[in-house]
Amino acid sequence: MNPQDAIEKHFTRLRPDQKTALRKLGLKTVRDLLYHFPARYEAGGPAGTVAGIALGAHVTLYGTIRKPEAKKSWKSKRPMAEAWFEDSSGRIKLRWFSQPYIAKMYQDGMVVKLSGKVTGSVGKLYIANPEIDTGSAATEALHENLFAAGNLPNADELYAIYPESRGISSLWFTHAVKKIIAAGVHEVLPDIVPEKLRADYSLPKAATAFIWMHLPKNQKDADVAKKRFAFEEVFAIQLAVQKARAAERRAAAPALSVDRPVVDEFIADFPFKPTSAQTRAIDAILDDFENPHPMMRLIEGDVGSGKTAVAAAAAYAVAHARDKGGAARHLQVAYMVPTEILAKQHFASFIEFFKKHHLSIGLITGKECYKFPSKVRSEMATRISRAQLSKWVANGEIPLVIGTHALIQKGVVFRDLALAIIDEQHRFGKVQRHKLARKDAKEPHLLSMTATPIPRTLALSIYGDLDLTVLDEMPAGRKPVITEVVTEATREKAYERMRAELKAGRQAYVICPRIDEPDPTKEFALLAKSAKLEQERLKKHVFPEYEIGLLHSKMTPAAKEEEMDRFKKNELQILVATSVVEVGVNVPNATVILIEGAERFGLAQLHQLRGRVIRSTHQAYCFLLSESKSDGTVQRLKALTTAANGFELAEADLALRGSGELYGARQWGVSDIAMEAIKNIKMVEAAREAAQAIIKADPTLAKHPLLEERIKIISESLYGE
Ligand code: ADP
Ligand code: MG
Repeated sequence: MNPQDAIEKHFTRLRPDQKTALRKLGLKTVRDLLYHFPARYEAGGPAGTVAGIALGAHVTLYGTIRKPEAKKSWKSKRPMAEAWFEDSSGRIKLRWFSQPYIAKMYQDGMVVKLSGKVTGSVGKLYIANPEIDTGSAATEALHENLFAAGNLPNADELYAIYPESRGISSLWFTHAVKKIIAAGVHEVLPDIVPEKLRADYSLPKAATAFIWMHLPKNQKDADVAKKRFAFEEVFAIQLAVQKARAAERRAAAPALSVDRPVVDEFIADFPFKPTSAQTRAIDAILDDFENPHPMMRLIEGDVGSGKTAVAAAAAYAVAHARDKGGAARHLQVAYMVPTEILAKQHFASFIEFFKKHHLSIGLITGKECYKFPSKVRSEMATRISRAQLSKWVANGEIPLVIGTHALIQKGVVFRDLALAIIDEQHRFGKVQRHKLARKDAKEPHLLSMTATPIPRTLALSIYGDLDLTVLDEMPAGRKPVITEVVTEATREKAYERMRAELKAGRQAYVICPRIDEPDPTKEFALLAKSAKLEQERLKKHVFPEYEIGLLHSKMTPAAKEEEMDRFKKNELQILVATSVVEVGVNVPNATVILIEGAERFGLAQLHQLRGRVIRSTHQAYCFLLSESKSDGTVQRLKALTTAANGFELAEADLALRGSGELYGARQWGVSDIAMEAIKNIKMVEAAREAAQAIIKADPTLAKHPLLEERIKIISESLYGE
């Protein structure tokens, strides 16, 4: 057996549903199976008995399935599956909501291992959506042992539980891995973690760790193995980002000679005094411009920390810079944002920043182009054709172009692009930044900005190729948003506060998790408010005296824009919206945001939404409506009421969850196991140093083919190469 062999070559009796499950999990080769790690372990015994269970407990039981059937739920009439589960001590109901097909997967009399949470109420206990390991030989053997000999499974044995997937059981994986390890495959796989690092951190060799991971004797071995593979992955990520960074360092960029006094004058003209964090960021950027290699800087600043002003100063500096040693050129700036609404908003902000300074600005979106100033009325922008804009950009007449994706999609060619600014870069992905190319072999300087605060360790990992500047200071006079978790019982109080704000002339957002149609896959879908119905309800029953608008992602861009515009002009006092208002919408007069079904949003997203109301110096309020009574959810939402800023919140989220859900870590291809490692700053830093040393000696990894091979997938997901 070889690591690269297809799974089916050695496991010839796979059922179609098992094959489908393997495909869905992305497992193709024998090596993939070894790297498919258990999510957790369960002690072999003592397993529970039905008679011994208690409400709220997480239980593991061995027994028999009885009378599985598809039904409609009693209250909501939604389809579901039900069965009885019995062991020698008694029986309990099993329920799978919205999954009636499950009834067909089990037959009366099947012997299974079950794990799940006991729900319901005393006297009417049941297990909701239990995980079932079906009649594989091992379970049956185990069960027979258990009952025939009156033995419980060996108390010091651990059973690996693999990430959930329909069609393939944890026991199948355990058997498969046993067979693979018996064939010695784990010993021929290369160990990419250098020996010295293993020694420094007391990490086992890969061959040992595979055994400890899949077939551990005790939890401690499993933990050590997990730590080792976590380190391996963080190390591989670091190699990938450091390699990319080394490549950027070798690339050529236009070295600029910045006219500092001119930039200082421009900054002095801001309608406010920049925070010291803003000044630090601007200084760092201007220094970077002097280098003949591309700046790769990420500004991470909470919503409202004033990133636009930093971008404006950087853009102004470029437009007034000279080529090092050369004459003045037509240096240009491209500013990319993720949505049309944001592009327009930034266009308007930049007109404010630049109108006294005689700098032309272009705007390009998927549907139209504008230029400021208009030839006829110098305080206005004017609509122009894309051909006209392209011409002016190509000949250098327009030094600053703001746009959506259209900037790269519509083939805009710059005469001399020196700086690319990418706002909310996590939405673009890293691939895009390479597409704003110049005509020569040089690359523009890159300034990315994001309002998504991520913990430092994660930043070092996924943005390890960027220099990081944190805007950790809010403009003076901002009051923290008063944030409260509200239940149905206290909803009226939230409305009272909202009414008081509206009376005082302020405005409010109401955010709903859905647009309209109920979600048929969710048992509790009816509880999730839809924006359309909520708008009607508020109009009729709660705030009849105010104008209430509606904004959601299925509206045409024109309709969205019109609604936004009316809200900005205060023609609408309340805007009911789905999370489309998430990114950067700026209406300083809005001081209340009420978020329905708050538990359905991630902490980062809630934090972004809340950011919509810290645009002014008025006291602002955020109400998080949640019906969830689960401790985890309440604790998670409470973090929003106590965390002072996005970074604290990010750290809290990492501590509370730590899985790949965090801030799109998954979208960067960071696995759950690496996320665990990322909690540990020492480990990340050690991996980073080790990777840096290797890349320094061998920038392209030409001498380390094994490492090169291992980071290929990571590089692909980070850079799409
Ligand atoms: P974000 O970082 O979320 O992009 P913006 O750049 O949109 O934030 O700034 C939010 C608001 O704060 C804007 O109205 C901006 O004019 C204002 N602002 C920015 N910097 C300062 C400052 N130093 N003092 C006062 N207000 C500022
Ligand atoms: Mg912004």
